[in-house]
Amino acid sequence: MGNSYDLGVIGAGPAGYTAALHAAANGQKVVIFEKDNLGGVCLNKGCIPTKSILHSSELYKKIKNSQQFGLTAENVKLDYNKVIERKNQTVERLRKGLELAFKNAKIEVIKSEAKIVSSNEIEAEGIIYNCGKIICAIGSSPRLVKGLEFDHEFLLSSDDILNLESLPKSILIVGSGAIGIEWARIFSNFGVETTIVELASHLLPLADIEVSKRVERIFKFEKIKFHLETCVEKIENKKITLSNGEIICPEKVLVCVGRTPNSVDIVGGVSYIGDVSGEIQLAHYASKQALNVVENISMRKDLIPSVVYGTPEIAWVGKREQDVEGQDYKKSNLLVSSLGKAQCDGETEGFIKILSQNNKIIGAHIVSAEASSLIQQIVIAMQNNISTDKLKEVCFAHPTYSEGIFEALFRL
Ligand SMILES: Cc1cc2nc3c(=O)[nH]c(=O)nc-3n(C[C@H](O)[C@H](O)[C@H](O)COP(=O)(O)OP(=O)(O)OC[C@H]3O[C@@H](n4cnc5c(N)ncnc54)[C@H](O)[C@@H]3O)c2cc1C
Repeated sequence: MGNSYDLGVIGAGPAGYTAALHAAANGQKVVIFEKDNLGGVCLNKGCIPTKSILHSSELYKKIKNSQQFGLTAENVKLDYNKVIERKNQTVERLRKGLELAFKNAKIEVIKSEAKIVSSNEIEAEGIIYNCGKIICAIGSSPRLVKGLEFDHEFLLSSDDILNLESLPKSILIVGSGAIGIEWARIFSNFGVETTIVELASHLLPLADIEVSKRVERIFKFEKIKFHLETCVEKIENKKITLSNGEIICPEKVLVCVGRTPNSVDIVGGVSYIGDVSGEIQLAHYASKQALNVVENISMRKDLIPSVVYGTPEIAWVGKREQDVEGQDYKKSNLLVSSLGKAQCDGETEGFIKILSQNNKIIGAHIVSAEASSLIQQIVIAMQNNISTDKLKEVCFAHPTYSEGIFEALFRL
Protein backbone atom coordinates (compact mmCIF):
# COMPACT_ATOMS: atom_id res chain seq x y z
CA MET A 1 0.00 0.00 0.00
CA GLY A 2 1.35 3.42 -1.02
CA ASN A 3 0.53 5.13 2.26
CA SER A 4 1.70 2.39 4.60
CA TYR A 5 4.85 2.83 6.63
CA ASP A 6 6.63 1.04 9.45
CA LEU A 7 7.24 4.39 11.16
CA GLY A 8 5.66 7.82 10.91
CA VAL A 9 7.49 10.73 12.56
CA ILE A 10 5.98 14.17 13.13
CA GLY A 11 8.59 16.91 13.46
CA ALA A 12 12.05 16.95 11.90
CA GLY A 13 14.11 18.39 14.76
CA PRO A 14 16.89 16.40 16.50
CA ALA A 15 14.37 14.02 18.08
CA GLY A 16 12.43 13.38 14.88
CA TYR A 17 15.30 13.23 12.40
CA THR A 18 17.41 10.96 14.63
CA ALA A 19 14.46 8.58 15.02
CA ALA A 20 13.74 8.61 11.28
CA LEU A 21 17.35 8.08 10.17
CA HIS A 22 18.00 5.25 12.62
CA ALA A 23 14.76 3.48 11.82
CA ALA A 24 15.49 3.73 8.09
CA ALA A 25 19.05 2.44 8.66
CA ASN A 26 17.44 -0.58 10.34
CA GLY A 27 15.46 -1.26 7.16
CA GLN A 28 12.16 0.36 8.15
CA LYS A 29 9.97 2.25 5.69
CA VAL A 30 9.74 5.74 7.19
CA VAL A 31 7.73 8.90 6.54
CA ILE A 32 8.51 12.18 8.31
CA PHE A 33 6.29 15.28 8.43
CA GLU A 34 7.68 18.79 8.92
CA LYS A 35 5.62 21.97 8.69
CA ASP A 36 8.62 24.31 8.68
CA ASN A 37 12.30 23.83 7.89
CA LEU A 38 14.05 20.48 8.34
CA GLY A 39 16.27 20.47 11.42
CA GLY A 40 13.76 21.93 13.87
CA VAL A 41 14.50 24.63 16.42
CA CYS A 42 18.00 23.28 17.00
CA LEU A 43 19.20 23.85 13.44
CA ASN A 44 17.04 26.81 12.42
CA LYS A 45 16.40 28.89 15.56
CA GLY A 46 18.50 27.46 18.38
CA CYS A 47 21.78 25.65 18.89
CA ILE A 48 23.34 26.24 15.48
CA PRO A 49 22.42 29.84 14.55
CA THR A 50 23.25 31.13 18.03
CA LYS A 51 26.63 29.42 18.04
CA SER A 52 27.45 30.81 14.61
CA ILE A 53 26.67 34.39 15.72
CA LEU A 54 28.46 33.78 19.04
CA HIS A 55 31.57 32.66 17.18
CA SER A 56 31.59 35.86 15.09
CA SER A 57 31.19 37.95 18.24
CA GLU A 58 34.05 36.14 19.97
CA LEU A 59 36.35 36.55 16.99
CA TYR A 60 35.50 40.25 16.86
CA LYS A 61 36.37 40.69 20.51
CA LYS A 62 39.51 38.56 20.29
CA ILE A 63 40.86 40.38 17.26
CA LYS A 64 40.25 43.73 18.94
CA ASN A 65 42.13 42.52 22.01
CA SER A 66 44.95 40.72 20.24
CA GLN A 67 47.81 42.98 21.32
CA GLN A 68 48.67 40.67 24.22
CA PHE A 69 49.45 37.95 21.65
CA GLY A 70 51.85 40.23 19.78
CA LEU A 71 49.33 41.16 17.09
CA THR A 72 48.05 44.55 16.15
CA ALA A 73 44.79 44.72 14.26
CA GLU A 74 43.69 48.14 13.15
CA ASN A 75 40.35 49.19 11.84
CA VAL A 76 38.50 46.04 12.89
CA LYS A 77 35.04 46.55 11.46
CA LEU A 78 31.83 44.78 12.30
CA ASP A 79 29.35 44.10 9.52
CA TYR A 80 26.38 42.56 11.30
CA ASN A 81 24.64 41.75 8.00
CA LYS A 82 27.59 39.55 7.06
CA VAL A 83 27.48 37.89 10.48
CA ILE A 84 23.85 36.99 9.81
CA GLU A 85 24.61 35.98 6.22
CA ARG A 86 27.27 33.54 7.46
CA LYS A 87 24.84 32.22 10.09
CA ASN A 88 22.25 31.64 7.35
CA GLN A 89 24.79 29.88 5.14
CA THR A 90 25.85 27.61 8.00
CA VAL A 91 22.25 26.67 8.70
CA GLU A 92 21.52 26.17 5.00
CA ARG A 93 24.56 23.89 4.54
CA LEU A 94 23.56 21.70 7.47
CA ARG A 95 19.95 21.65 6.31
CA LYS A 96 21.02 20.48 2.85
CA GLY A 97 23.10 17.77 4.53
CA LEU A 98 20.02 16.62 6.39
CA GLU A 99 17.92 16.65 3.21
CA LEU A 100 20.54 14.52 1.51
CA ALA A 101 20.68 12.12 4.46
CA PHE A 102 16.88 11.68 4.23
CA LYS A 103 17.13 11.15 0.47
CA ASN A 104 19.91 8.58 0.79
CA ALA A 105 17.99 6.76 3.50
CA LYS A 106 14.89 6.76 1.24
CA ILE A 107 12.81 8.47 3.92
CA GLU A 108 9.70 10.11 2.56
CA VAL A 109 9.55 13.76 3.61
CA ILE A 110 6.15 15.43 3.70
CA LYS A 111 6.52 19.19 4.09
CA SER A 112 3.25 19.83 5.82
CA GLU A 113 1.61 20.11 9.21
CA ALA A 114 0.50 16.69 10.42
CA LYS A 115 -1.96 15.42 12.99
CA ILE A 116 -2.19 12.15 14.86
CA VAL A 117 -5.54 10.53 14.12
CA SER A 118 -5.02 7.27 16.01
CA SER A 119 -2.12 5.19 17.32
CA ASN A 120 -1.52 4.04 13.71
CA GLU A 121 -2.73 6.93 11.57
CA ILE A 122 -1.35 10.35 10.72
CA GLU A 123 -3.21 12.90 8.66
CA ALA A 124 -1.56 15.57 6.53
CA GLU A 125 -3.25 17.69 3.87
CA GLY A 126 -6.30 15.46 3.93
CA ILE A 127 -4.30 12.27 3.31
CA ILE A 128 -4.16 9.46 5.87
CA TYR A 129 -0.83 7.74 6.37
CA ASN A 130 -0.94 4.30 8.02
CA CYS A 131 2.05 3.75 10.27
CA GLY A 132 3.05 0.68 12.27
CA LYS A 133 4.41 3.05 14.88
CA ILE A 134 4.16 6.81 15.41
CA ILE A 135 6.71 9.12 16.99
CA CYS A 136 5.61 12.63 17.86
CA ALA A 137 8.56 15.06 18.11
CA ILE A 138 6.93 18.45 17.60
CA GLY A 139 9.17 20.42 19.96
CA SER A 140 8.55 23.51 22.05
CA SER A 141 8.04 27.28 21.73
CA PRO A 142 9.27 30.32 23.67
CA ARG A 143 7.37 30.62 26.97
CA LEU A 144 4.99 33.54 27.21
CA VAL A 145 5.04 35.76 30.29
CA LYS A 146 2.13 37.93 31.34
CA GLY A 147 2.99 41.58 30.80
CA LEU A 148 5.92 40.67 28.55
CA GLU A 149 3.99 39.36 25.56
CA PHE A 150 6.13 39.41 22.41
CA ASP A 151 5.32 42.26 20.03
CA HIS A 152 8.25 41.14 17.81
CA GLU A 153 9.51 44.74 17.57
CA PHE A 154 10.50 45.78 21.07
CA LEU A 155 9.71 42.69 23.13
CA LEU A 156 11.50 39.89 21.33
CA SER A 157 11.59 36.11 21.60
CA SER A 158 14.66 33.96 20.94
CA ASP A 159 13.24 33.49 17.41
CA ASP A 160 12.85 37.24 16.77
CA ILE A 161 16.35 38.03 17.97
CA LEU A 162 17.80 36.00 15.10
CA ASN A 163 16.09 38.28 12.60
CA LEU A 164 17.51 41.62 13.81
CA GLU A 165 18.87 43.54 10.85
CA SER A 166 21.22 45.60 12.96
CA LEU A 167 22.52 45.54 16.50
CA PRO A 168 20.68 47.62 19.08
CA LYS A 169 22.63 50.11 21.19
CA SER A 170 21.27 48.51 24.35
CA ILE A 171 19.34 45.41 25.31
CA LEU A 172 17.56 44.06 28.35
CA ILE A 173 17.59 40.28 28.65
CA VAL A 174 14.88 38.80 30.84
CA GLY A 175 16.04 35.42 32.17
CA SER A 176 19.54 34.09 32.68
CA GLY A 177 19.29 30.47 31.62
CA ALA A 178 21.58 29.15 28.89
CA ILE A 179 19.83 31.17 26.16
CA GLY A 180 19.96 34.44 28.14
CA ILE A 181 23.61 33.97 29.12
CA GLU A 182 24.68 33.15 25.55
CA TRP A 183 22.89 36.17 24.10
CA ALA A 184 24.27 38.41 26.85
CA ARG A 185 27.74 37.29 25.81
CA ILE A 186 27.01 37.81 22.11
CA PHE A 187 25.68 41.34 22.60
CA SER A 188 28.39 42.29 25.05
CA ASN A 189 31.12 41.00 22.70
CA PHE A 190 29.67 43.22 19.97
CA GLY A 191 29.73 46.22 22.31
CA VAL A 192 25.98 46.41 22.99
CA GLU A 193 25.08 47.76 26.44
CA THR A 194 23.65 44.60 28.03
CA THR A 195 21.53 44.22 31.16
CA ILE A 196 20.02 41.03 32.57
CA VAL A 197 17.04 40.69 34.89
CA GLU A 198 16.81 37.42 36.82
CA LEU A 199 14.12 36.42 39.28
CA ALA A 200 16.34 33.86 41.07
CA SER A 201 19.05 34.83 43.53
CA HIS A 202 21.86 33.96 41.07
CA LEU A 203 22.57 34.01 37.36
CA LEU A 204 22.26 30.64 35.62
CA PRO A 205 20.03 29.34 38.44
CA LEU A 206 20.26 25.69 37.42
CA ALA A 207 24.05 25.60 37.72
CA ASP A 208 26.22 24.73 40.70
CA ILE A 209 26.30 27.71 43.03
CA GLU A 210 30.05 28.30 42.50
CA VAL A 211 29.54 28.32 38.75
CA SER A 212 26.78 30.91 39.07
CA LYS A 213 28.95 33.08 41.29
CA ARG A 214 31.87 32.81 38.86
CA VAL A 215 29.63 33.83 35.95
CA GLU A 216 28.53 36.84 38.00
CA ARG A 217 32.16 37.77 38.63
CA ILE A 218 33.02 37.42 34.95
CA PHE A 219 29.98 39.47 33.91
CA LYS A 220 30.90 42.24 36.36
CA PHE A 221 34.36 42.34 34.79
CA GLU A 222 32.81 42.36 31.29
CA LYS A 223 30.48 45.20 32.36
CA ILE A 224 27.35 43.15 31.71
CA LYS A 225 24.86 44.54 34.22
CA PHE A 226 22.51 42.22 36.05
CA HIS A 227 19.73 42.52 38.59
CA LEU A 228 19.07 39.43 40.74
CA GLU A 229 15.82 38.61 42.56
CA THR A 230 14.25 41.15 40.26
CA CYS A 231 11.53 41.14 37.65
CA VAL A 232 10.02 43.58 35.19
CA GLU A 233 7.21 45.39 36.95
CA LYS A 234 5.94 47.80 34.34
CA ILE A 235 6.54 48.80 30.73
CA GLU A 236 5.35 52.18 29.56
CA ASN A 237 6.43 53.59 26.20
CA LYS A 238 9.57 51.43 26.21
CA LYS A 239 10.41 52.66 29.71
CA ILE A 240 10.90 49.67 31.96
CA THR A 241 10.44 49.76 35.70
CA LEU A 242 12.07 46.87 37.55
CA SER A 243 10.80 45.48 40.84
CA ASN A 244 13.90 46.88 42.56
CA GLY A 245 12.84 50.39 41.58
CA GLU A 246 15.38 50.86 38.76
CA ILE A 247 14.14 52.36 35.53
CA ILE A 248 15.81 51.44 32.26
CA CYS A 249 15.14 52.33 28.65
CA PRO A 250 16.73 49.66 26.45
CA GLU A 251 16.38 49.73 22.68
CA LYS A 252 15.23 46.08 22.68
CA VAL A 253 14.13 43.46 25.19
CA LEU A 254 14.82 39.74 24.78
CA VAL A 255 12.47 37.60 26.85
CA CYS A 256 13.91 34.11 27.34
CA VAL A 257 12.40 32.53 30.41
CA GLY A 258 12.13 28.97 29.20
CA ARG A 259 10.15 27.07 26.60
CA THR A 260 6.73 25.43 26.64
CA PRO A 261 6.16 22.04 24.98
CA ASN A 262 3.96 22.46 21.89
CA SER A 263 0.46 21.31 22.66
CA VAL A 264 -0.68 17.96 21.38
CA ASP A 265 -3.33 15.39 22.17
CA ILE A 266 -1.87 12.36 23.89
CA VAL A 267 -2.76 9.17 22.02
CA GLY A 268 -1.95 5.80 23.59
CA GLY A 269 0.80 3.83 21.84
CA VAL A 270 2.46 6.95 20.35
CA SER A 271 5.97 7.87 21.57
CA TYR A 272 6.41 11.55 22.50
CA ILE A 273 10.07 12.50 22.47
CA GLY A 274 12.27 15.60 22.55
CA ASP A 275 11.12 18.98 23.87
CA VAL A 276 7.45 18.07 23.52
CA SER A 277 7.93 15.41 26.21
CA GLY A 278 8.38 18.25 28.72
CA GLU A 279 11.54 16.68 30.11
CA ILE A 280 15.09 17.97 29.60
CA GLN A 281 14.96 20.52 26.77
CA LEU A 282 18.27 19.89 25.08
CA ALA A 283 19.03 18.69 21.56
CA HIS A 284 21.30 15.86 22.71
CA TYR A 285 18.63 14.64 25.13
CA ALA A 286 16.08 14.72 22.29
CA SER A 287 18.29 12.60 20.03
CA LYS A 288 19.10 10.22 22.90
CA GLN A 289 15.39 9.72 23.51
CA ALA A 290 15.03 8.91 19.80
CA LEU A 291 17.76 6.29 20.04
CA ASN A 292 16.08 4.89 23.10
CA VAL A 293 12.76 4.45 21.26
CA VAL A 294 14.15 3.25 17.92
CA GLU A 295 17.28 1.30 18.86
CA ASN A 296 16.40 0.50 22.46
CA ILE A 297 19.69 2.11 23.56
CA SER A 298 19.41 2.92 27.24
CA MET A 299 20.38 6.25 28.76
CA ARG A 300 21.02 7.73 32.17
CA LYS A 301 18.77 10.74 32.63
CA ASP A 302 20.90 11.89 35.55
CA LEU A 303 23.98 12.05 33.32
CA ILE A 304 22.86 14.46 30.61
CA PRO A 305 25.53 17.15 30.31
CA SER A 306 24.61 20.84 30.21
CA VAL A 307 26.72 23.33 28.30
CA VAL A 308 26.59 27.11 28.08
CA TYR A 309 28.72 28.51 25.28
CA GLY A 310 30.93 31.57 25.14
CA THR A 311 34.20 32.55 26.76
CA PRO A 312 34.87 30.70 28.95
CA GLU A 313 32.55 27.79 28.28
CA ILE A 314 30.50 26.42 31.15
CA ALA A 315 29.59 22.74 31.46
CA TRP A 316 28.32 20.43 34.13
CA VAL A 317 26.94 17.01 34.84
CA GLY A 318 25.59 15.18 37.87
CA LYS A 319 25.09 16.55 41.34
CA ARG A 320 25.72 20.18 42.26
CA GLU A 321 27.22 21.22 45.55
CA GLN A 322 23.87 22.53 46.78
CA ASP A 323 22.38 19.06 46.09
CA VAL A 324 24.74 17.30 48.51
CA GLU A 325 24.72 19.88 51.30
CA GLY A 326 24.98 18.14 54.66
CA GLN A 327 26.17 14.87 53.10
CA ASP A 328 29.60 13.33 53.26
CA TYR A 329 31.39 14.22 50.02
CA LYS A 330 34.77 15.26 48.73
CA LYS A 331 35.43 18.24 46.54
CA SER A 332 38.38 19.41 44.49
CA ASN A 333 38.67 22.71 42.71
CA LEU A 334 41.44 23.33 40.25
CA LEU A 335 42.04 26.80 38.88
CA VAL A 336 42.38 26.74 35.12
CA SER A 337 45.11 29.39 35.42
CA SER A 338 47.43 26.66 36.76
CA LEU A 339 47.40 24.90 33.38
CA GLY A 340 50.19 25.47 30.85
CA LYS A 341 47.78 25.31 27.91
CA ALA A 342 45.49 27.93 29.46
CA GLN A 343 48.43 30.29 29.98
CA CYS A 344 49.61 29.80 26.38
CA ASP A 345 46.11 30.51 25.04
CA GLY A 346 45.43 33.43 27.39
CA GLU A 347 42.32 31.53 28.57
CA THR A 348 43.06 31.51 32.28
CA GLU A 349 39.58 32.25 33.63
CA GLY A 350 37.75 29.44 35.36
CA PHE A 351 37.94 26.24 37.34
CA ILE A 352 37.40 22.52 37.19
CA LYS A 353 35.45 21.26 40.17
CA ILE A 354 34.83 17.61 40.86
CA LEU A 355 32.58 16.21 43.58
CA SER A 356 33.00 12.61 44.74
CA GLN A 357 31.55 10.12 47.18
CA ASN A 358 33.01 6.70 47.99
CA ASN A 359 35.75 7.07 45.39
CA LYS A 360 33.25 7.79 42.58
CA ILE A 361 32.58 11.07 40.81
CA ILE A 362 29.06 12.30 41.55
CA GLY A 363 29.26 15.61 39.72
CA ALA A 364 31.58 17.93 37.82
CA HIS A 365 31.32 21.66 37.14
CA ILE A 366 33.64 23.28 34.68
CA VAL A 367 34.17 26.91 33.74
CA SER A 368 36.95 26.82 31.18
CA ALA A 369 37.90 26.96 27.55
CA GLU A 370 36.89 23.62 26.01
CA ALA A 371 34.52 22.84 28.90
CA SER A 372 32.04 21.41 26.35
CA SER A 373 34.54 18.67 25.47
CA LEU A 374 36.04 18.25 28.93
CA ILE A 375 32.70 17.39 30.49
CA GLN A 376 32.36 14.41 28.17
CA GLN A 377 35.35 12.74 29.84
CA ILE A 378 33.55 12.97 33.15
CA VAL A 379 30.27 11.68 31.68
CA ILE A 380 32.04 8.60 30.30
CA ALA A 381 33.71 7.96 33.66
CA MET A 382 30.48 8.39 35.62
CA GLN A 383 28.35 6.34 33.26
CA ASN A 384 30.85 3.47 33.45
CA ASN A 385 31.22 3.73 37.20
CA ILE A 386 34.97 4.23 36.90
CA SER A 387 36.50 4.98 40.28
CA THR A 388 38.63 8.06 40.82
CA ASP A 389 41.61 5.76 41.54
CA LYS A 390 41.16 4.00 38.21
CA LEU A 391 40.89 7.35 36.42
CA LYS A 392 44.23 8.39 37.91
CA GLU A 393 45.79 5.55 35.90
CA VAL A 394 44.74 7.23 32.63
CA CYS A 395 47.48 9.18 30.81
CA PHE A 396 46.34 12.71 29.87
CA ALA A 397 48.27 14.50 27.10
CA HIS A 398 50.27 17.63 27.83
CA PRO A 399 49.69 20.54 27.45
CA THR A 400 45.90 20.26 27.46
CA TYR A 401 42.90 21.46 29.43
CA SER A 402 42.19 17.78 30.12
CA GLU A 403 45.18 17.76 32.43
CA GLY A 404 43.03 19.90 34.69
CA ILE A 405 40.71 16.93 35.21
CA PHE A 406 43.70 14.73 36.02
CA GLU A 407 45.06 17.28 38.50
CA ALA A 408 41.64 17.77 40.07
CA LEU A 409 41.38 14.01 40.71
CA PHE A 410 44.48 14.16 42.90
CA ARG A 411 42.94 16.93 45.00
CA LEU A 412 39.87 14.96 45.98
C1 LIG B 1 18.15 29.98 21.24
C2 LIG B 1 18.25 28.51 21.55
C3 LIG B 1 19.49 27.95 21.72
C4 LIG B 1 19.61 26.59 22.02
N1 LIG B 1 20.86 26.06 22.19
C5 LIG B 1 20.99 24.75 22.48
C6 LIG B 1 22.28 24.17 22.63
O1 LIG B 1 23.30 24.83 22.49
N2 LIG B 1 22.34 22.86 22.93
C7 LIG B 1 21.23 22.09 23.10
O2 LIG B 1 21.36 20.89 23.38
N3 LIG B 1 19.99 22.61 22.97
C8 LIG B 1 19.85 23.92 22.66
N4 LIG B 1 18.59 24.45 22.48
C9 LIG B 1 17.44 23.55 22.68
C10 LIG B 1 17.20 22.69 21.42
O3 LIG B 1 17.05 23.52 20.28
C11 LIG B 1 15.98 21.82 21.60
O4 LIG B 1 16.11 21.08 22.80
C12 LIG B 1 15.80 20.87 20.43
O5 LIG B 1 15.63 21.56 19.22
C13 LIG B 1 14.59 19.96 20.67
O6 LIG B 1 14.48 19.08 19.60
P1 LIG B 1 13.07 18.46 19.18
O7 LIG B 1 13.37 17.58 18.03
O8 LIG B 1 12.39 17.92 20.35
O9 LIG B 1 12.17 19.69 18.73
P2 LIG B 1 12.40 20.89 17.66
O10 LIG B 1 13.81 21.08 17.33
O11 LIG B 1 11.62 22.00 18.22
O12 LIG B 1 11.68 20.32 16.37
C14 LIG B 1 10.30 20.12 16.29
C15 LIG B 1 9.87 20.27 14.86
O13 LIG B 1 8.51 19.86 14.75
C16 LIG B 1 7.87 20.68 13.79
N5 LIG B 1 6.42 20.59 14.02
C17 LIG B 1 5.74 21.03 15.10
N6 LIG B 1 4.44 20.70 15.00
C18 LIG B 1 4.29 20.03 13.82
C19 LIG B 1 3.20 19.44 13.15
N7 LIG B 1 1.99 19.43 13.69
N8 LIG B 1 3.41 18.87 11.95
C20 LIG B 1 4.64 18.85 11.40
N9 LIG B 1 5.73 19.40 11.98
C21 LIG B 1 5.55 19.97 13.19
C22 LIG B 1 8.46 22.04 14.06
O14 LIG B 1 8.30 22.88 12.93
C23 LIG B 1 9.91 21.69 14.34
O15 LIG B 1 10.69 21.75 13.17
C24 LIG B 1 18.45 25.79 22.15
C25 LIG B 1 17.19 26.36 21.96
C26 LIG B 1 17.08 27.70 21.65
C27 LIG B 1 15.72 28.29 21.44
